[in-house]
Amino acid sequence: MKTLFKLLPFALLAASAIAQSLPDSSVATSASAPKPRWVSTSVGVNKIPVKWANNHAQWYFNPANIPLPHPEIRQLEALTQDGVLTAMKEAAAQWMQVCNINIEYKGLTNAAPIRGDDVIDGNSVWGFTYLQGMTSGFAAPAIRRTYEQGLPIAGTIVSASIEVNANDRAFEYTALRGVMVHEIGHAIGISHSDMTWAVMAENAFHGSDYDQWLRSDDIGACLVAYGEAPYSKANRVFNWAENTYPVFRNTYKTPFFNDVNSVYGFTTFHNRPSTTVQGDGFIFRHYPQSDSYLGSMDGSIYYMGPDRVLQNVGKVLDFMPAVIAARF
Ligand SMILES: [Zn+2]
Repeated sequence: MKTLFKLLPFALLAASAIAQSLPDSSVATSASAPKPRWVSTSVGVNKIPVKWANNHAQWYFNPANIPLPHPEIRQLEALTQDGVLTAMKEAAAQWMQVCNINIEYKGLTNAAPIRGDDVIDGNSVWGFTYLQGMTSGFAAPAIRRTYEQGLPIAGTIVSASIEVNANDRAFEYTALRGVMVHEIGHAIGISHSDMTWAVMAENAFHGSDYDQWLRSDDIGACLVAYGEAPYSKANRVFNWAENTYPVFRNTYKTPFFNDVNSVYGFTTFHNRPSTTVQGDGFIFRHYPQSDSYLGSMDGSIYYMGPDRVLQNVGKVLDFMPAVIAARF
């Protein structure tokens, strides 16, 4: 569960505060990296492992109740069915890029998301519901437990629904995507972290931009449950580079609206990751605003600018200390 309303008035302040707090962190060298402190259902009470069988999650999308934003936002960036679906897929990709789990989109449905833990054989629907209060999103995995001599020895996630608050008129693409990255973490079995800088932290006042990228604590949780994706470290280098070098930024002029005090405005520096794609033996991301590429093949990182000269800029593993120090 994640609240969004409270975050918005602080979005501009938070962006600069985070930028200042990350580089000089004293706790995040590779040697002294903080242990994941997520209260993961994967290693939670009684150490009962909880995960999707065969590292394969699935979900359907119900397009009902997509919120109409405040009119001032609507003129600029109303949420569409395609836009919502893309935000959900991109948020799922953040997890699949680093951890060995397939979060498969199965298609549209008219079925409503079913809320609540242990709704056995629920329907794994992601969609909008009129939630009460300030909650932006809610995710609940349904878990079938295996018992031996009366004690649970394992738990398999058999479905997980995500409800996003249809009352939330502050939603635009970036805000929705950030909330989804957090909620999908719950849907694959990860609970809240007590590391305030984790995306899986609850109510940490990060703002939408921050939650676009998983942090090392979030990744630590899904690595325990699912293991490492083939290009996990390269994707983490890309995530770090996008937050370190302006050439790899995707900047969107994005409106925001605060329903509490009816303030709307424009945050001109909303950023999002580029999508990782595969081709020619590489995995790579394209950056339209600088017409450049960041790629990886055979354990090396490559850069290609508008001149289309491919440059090997170093080994993935040599980047990792800096990546981890910056908590990516
Ligand atoms: Zn949550």
